[in-house]
This record gives sequence, C-alpha cells and structure tokens, in this order.
Amino acid sequence: MTRREVLKQMYAVVVAVGASSFLSFDDLLAMDKGEIAKPNLVWLHGTSCSGCSTSFLNVEGVPLVDILTEYTNVVFHPDISLATGHQVTDMLERADEYKDFIFVFEGSIPMAMPHACMLGDKPMTYWVDKLVRKSSVCIAAGTCASFGGITNMEGMVTGPKPLADFISYQGIKKPVVNLPNCPMKPEQLLYVLFYYLKTHNTPELDDEKRPLRFFGNTVHERCTRHDDFTRKKFAKKIGDEGCLFYLGCQGIVTKNDCPINGHNGNTNICIKAGHPCIGCAGKYFPRKIMLHTYDDKRPNERFKVIS
Ligand code: SF4
Ligand code: SF4
Repeated sequence: MTRREVLKQMYAVVVAVGASSFLSFDDLLAMDKGEIAKPNLVWLHGTSCSGCSTSFLNVEGVPLVDILTEYTNVVFHPDISLATGHQVTDMLERADEYKDFIFVFEGSIPMAMPHACMLGDKPMTYWVDKLVRKSSVCIAAGTCASFGGITNMEGMVTGPKPLADFISYQGIKKPVVNLPNCPMKPEQLLYVLFYYLKTHNTPELDDEKRPLRFFGNTVHERCTRHDDFTRKKFAKKIGDEGCLFYLGCQGIVTKNDCPINGHNGNTNICIKAGHPCIGCAGKYFPRKIMLHTYDDKRPNERFKVIS
C-alpha cells in the first residue's frame, strides 16, 4: 500500500466524523510533510472504568493509533504508551516543554479522598492542576469527566469533581469541551481534535460546554419512535413496539445525537434495541431509579431531570 493510499484511509475518518467541511485532504498532506504542526496530546485517567478509552481505541475503520499519531503527537496515553513508572511521571513533570498540547481527561477527580487516585507518589489533583495550567485546551472524555457520572452516584465517598468544576475551583481559566456519553463516542472526540487542529479553537459549545453539533437536540426530537409518542402508542414492557416513555425513557430530556450517530460505528442505540434511553449523557446520570414499569407507583422521577 502506498503512503497516499494510507493517507486516503486516514482521511476517510475525517469525512466519517463530519470534519471534511473544514479539514481538507491537502491539510493532511501538509501535515504529513511537516508543513502544518501537529498538536501534542496528553491523556490521563482519573477515577474511571477506562470505558471511554476502550470505546475510543475501538473506533471503526482505521486503527486509532494510526489516526492519533498521524494527526497529533501523543505524549502520553495510559493504554497505548509504552512508558511506565518514572518515565511517565518525569514526562508529565516536563509539561511546560510541550508547546500547544491538548489535555484529555477521563473519569473524575476524587477531591475528598485524593489518595484514591494516584499517579506515582502524587494524587490526581496535583497532575490535573499541573497539566491543565500548561495545556492549550482541555477535553472531558465521557460523562464522569463531564458531570461526575457513575463515579458520583449516591453513596460515593471520594467527593468526585468533573474536570470543568475542578478547573474553576482551582481558579484556572482554560477552554474546556465536555463530551458526555457513557462511554464517550469516539467520533465526537475525533471531531473536536480535528477542529482544534485546523482552527486552534473549540467548536461552538452550549452552556454545559458541549459541542452544539452533537448536543443541540434531545434524543426524543429525532427518535425513530417519535411518531408513536405523538400517536400515544406506548410500550408496556421492554421489547414492545411503541414509545418507551412510560418505561422511564429519558430521551425526552437528554441532549445527544444518538439517533443519527449511535454507538459502535452507528450499529445501534438503546431505543432502537427496544430499551429506554437511560440518559447516559445527562448531567444527572445515573438516577436512583433508572427504569420504570408501565404502571410504576414509585416516586416519579421521570419528568424531574432536565439535562
Ligand atoms: S422512545 Fe423515548 S426518545 Fe423515543 S419518542 Fe419515546 S420518549 Fe421520546
Ligand atoms: S439513547 Fe440515551 S442512554 Fe442510550 S446512548 Fe443515547 S443518551 Fe445514552
């Protein structure tokens, strides 16, 4: 395979995630020749299950490592870098040397129990503070990093803070992009990376720092069962045809592009598979009661949450 054919494969990903409107094939050729500088990339996990990295590393089409190394200089990623131990901490201590770097953070920051998440002999609070200050832009990968998510569910004692809250708590001013989803959608992160690469800016964001392109509409607005909702044809149990509203569907209050950009390379989403949306990209995920029966008599949380 020639170099140009490899680059064509790379560019197919740019097209697939909708970034070809601002990033041309000529840009990619220029980058390949070193005529356009690639930004550095530092990725860290806080308290997390690593699901967002797993989702990202399994992007469809071209091997993700090829995409990352073609479009960025990966300084460190916990799952793909070979460096370990002091090599990593020494590299991160030298963050000021990495001019123009994108900081991607996955999971949350345990403020009430800093030793719950350590890198070397220092807590995550130290590393995130240091890296955020030196970075050009920060990206919160997934719902935990954006809003707290699973790491902030009822009963947690670690006092987790999402990235943007930590940054403002530390009094730091830095652009942050939230990409909530449990797990994060790789296409959304690639779009933001490509956008930054070309413009040195973030795409247009909403009040929750989410790209409007992905989070401008609720799942409900574009749902394949919306017609059933309008005609009041409701499912009475999971697997039934009809709108899943009475089974606890959160699509009505959850902003996300699932109906047009599903998980696993748009293979499927919850609702198409017959399961209510549980609002995994929402600010109040996970809720205490995630699913309802048609005639549920428990306290009604169905309409409480707007995210
Ligand atoms: S299944 Fe959910 S998202 Fe779809 S129409 Fe019904 S309430 Fe709305
Ligand atoms: S449909 Fe709802 S729960 Fe499913 S992936 Fe989309 S936002 Fe998350």
